[in-house]
Amino acid sequence: MRALVIDDSAAMRNIIARCLKALGFDVVQAIHGKDAVEKLRSDAKFDVILVDWNMPEMNGYEFIKAVRAVEDWRGIPLMMVTTETETTQVVRALAAGANEYLMKPFTPEMLGDKLALLGVTTS
Ligand SMILES: [Mg+2]
Repeated sequence: MRALVIDDSAAMRNIIARCLKALGFDVVQAIHGKDAVEKLRSDAKFDVILVDWNMPEMNGYEFIKAVRAVEDWRGIPLMMVTTETETTQVVRALAAGANEYLMKPFTPEMLGDKLALLGVTTS
């Protein structure tokens, strides 16, 4: 199983990547939405994408819209990982095509539970 982790914070990317590796995932990191789109173009074989909301170049919302506009990428499970607690933002993300959301701060167990909800498990 391969995961694409998108966050402009290196610390947050590393936290998420460590959790995912412990769960048995191979992890590719991207520093913002635009970087992630380039990584999808060159290597679209991801089983799940975890994306931050606030990022330069292309934010999480714009990224979700861009991914869902491409037929080959439409089926990839997508989770927002965000500090954004406003319900309207979560609703926007889900309406744009996100499948789940996870609020920071989170525990590895919370991340694992959300992945299980998406049907994305390595075991
Ligand atoms: Mg951010």
